[in-house]
Amino acid sequence: MPKIRCLCDEVINLSVIPNKQEFKLIWEPLIEKLIDSLVNAHRQAKSDEDFEKQVYNLFYPKQPKFPEVYECPNCGRLIVFSSPSDPNPAFWFQREPVNGEADSLRSLVEKIIDN
Ligand SMILES: [Zn+2]
Repeated sequence: MPKIRCLCDEVINLSVIPNKQEFKLIWEPLIEKLIDSLVNAHRQAKSDEDFEKQVYNLFYPKQPKFPEVYECPNCGRLIVFSSPSDPNPAFWFQREPVNGEADSLRSLVEKIIDN
């Protein structure tokens, strides 16, 4: 799925790495399991490179466990794929306008990271 056409007609390139329009949707109950897996990977790692490889395998497994979400840079819709290999999205979410400081999910996240 290298590209997708949003419902607003914007074409979004999905194959850019890293993709600034892409988000991993991590289910809150899964975070503790991820932390446990990271701790175990650190304990078992034979080297820094080995640990790094295990961390990448956790976050980018062959069978991904996180839905992937793309934000349309034009209309702000969120496009949810249950798996990166799915040809079609599982959901489209349309952003409702609010009087907030952020104009997109991406800018919201970038703001949090910068602080
Ligand atoms: Zn759009």
